[in-house]
Amino acid sequence: MGRVAVGLAVTVAVAACAVAAVVVGRRVKSRRKWRKVVNVLRELEEGCDTPVGRLKQVVDAMAVEMHAGLASEGGSKLKMLLTFVDNLPNGTERGTYYALHLGGTNFRVLRVHLNGQRSSVLEHDVERQPIPEHLMTSTSEELFDFIASSLKEFIAKEGDGSNISTNRRELGFTFSFPVKQMSVSSGILIKWTKGFSVVNMVRRDVAACLQEALARKGLDVHVAALVNDTVGTLALGHYHDPDTVAAIIIGTGTNACYLERIDAIIKCQGLLTASGRMVVNMEWGNFWSSHLPRTSYDIDLDAESPNPNDQGFEKMISGMYLGDIVRRVILRMSMESDMFELISPKLKIPFILRTPLMAAMHEDNSPDLREVARILKEVFEIPEVPMKARKIVVKVCDVVTRRAARLAAAGIVGILKKIGRDGSGGITGGRGRSNTKMRRTVVAIEGGLYSSYSLFSEYLHEALNEILGEEIAKHVIIKVTEDGSGIGTALLAASYSS
Ligand code: ADP
Ligand code: MG
Repeated sequence: MGRVAVGLAVTVAVAACAVAAVVVGRRVKSRRKWRKVVNVLRELEEGCDTPVGRLKQVVDAMAVEMHAGLASEGGSKLKMLLTFVDNLPNGTERGTYYALHLGGTNFRVLRVHLNGQRSSVLEHDVERQPIPEHLMTSTSEELFDFIASSLKEFIAKEGDGSNISTNRRELGFTFSFPVKQMSVSSGILIKWTKGFSVVNMVRRDVAACLQEALARKGLDVHVAALVNDTVGTLALGHYHDPDTVAAIIIGTGTNACYLERIDAIIKCQGLLTASGRMVVNMEWGNFWSSHLPRTSYDIDLDAESPNPNDQGFEKMISGMYLGDIVRRVILRMSMESDMFELISPKLKIPFILRTPLMAAMHEDNSPDLREVARILKEVFEIPEVPMKARKIVVKVCDVVTRRAARLAAAGIVGILKKIGRDGSGGITGGRGRSNTKMRRTVVAIEGGLYSSYSLFSEYLHEALNEILGEEIAKHVIIKVTEDGSGIGTALLAASYSS
């Protein structure tokens, strides 16, 4: 071999070694970065861990806070608001009743026909529309005039052919904001939430504002009941099934109410009702306990929210927030590694990932996780996502949703424990007696997160079984109501009309 040939061979060999070294170096670096991503995931899993022991601590904390909130005004982060609803619909109601619902995704007007017989299908009509955004920050007159006009148009469409009498109409008003009730048909607004901030409304009687607006429009309609949406859900649940004792809403936000013994409401001495019971609106979104598994993502989300230190339970559970927790985790992963090659600026925009899209990624069953890639591209403008990154994103959605659903389940068992329906003793036969029979117990549930996100509801049921044990869990029935927040309020208008 000539010198030149040897020189060439050596050069080629050196070059090949150099290339190999670079490739290996990159691989090592990439593996190291990938390990960081895996560590972020592992940390998240640990931070969100909800073994049954921990869930039982949350159950106990919920029951304890309920006691405290009933014992004194301001005794707990749970407001435990009185509703003055002491009788729930039972199927004997008759006539045509109306309901208005303000505070959900859409403003709704409903009419319900009742024939005095509990039937599986309730005949009703409903119209929904988004609340024009400017009204959310307008004056109370403007807001209530809009509501009254919507009702007037709805009634005008009934026409002559209808068999609805021209007597005074009775109406229930579903108002899904915290209200301090004075009676079943009056109550003052404690504070606005969900982006509303209508001036001169706080501390005013919401039902009176509506009644005045109805009068301004010349409508002979009586506001018979002012109702929180959870209470409407409980009313509809009870109408269909008298074993219903509590209602939960898990949609954009979350809340719960339940039927309490009047003598347990210590903060209101001397309260009397014919039934000896009253529905209590817990405002459970504000529940807090040191047993809740909280991560740095939750802390940041809370600190950057318009209401820090408020609605802590809601921020871990409800549809408004789950997508944003996931976004925060993906952003952190992306910053610690080259998981998506570049950090997309869109990853830094709060609430850009809505919960229904997060659910769609979580529930992507395609073998190549096509939907995950599509949504990451659509929402965050991340062009090409490798398969292993897609899998990690699915896992993040899973961890966040599983924690939410399991905590919601613990909250439900907390209520059951408070009213002695969790099978932990003294259910019917008294304490200490074995073989006491657990009573059939129904919880009405409503809201888009529960009804449209099947992995969420599956995880919730799984946790109920774990906490209660299969024997007891058999007696606890979760029943979905459809628009109970509206229809149930019309039923309450029937129960409480003069
Ligand atoms: P609201 O709570 O505003 O009265 P809903 O009960 O209909 O209204 O709940 C709507 C919320 O439910 C949405 O804001 C969203 O967070 C959640 N949601 C709706 N559909 C889905 C879905 N397919 N997957 C996951 N979450 C959903
Ligand atoms: Mg709702």
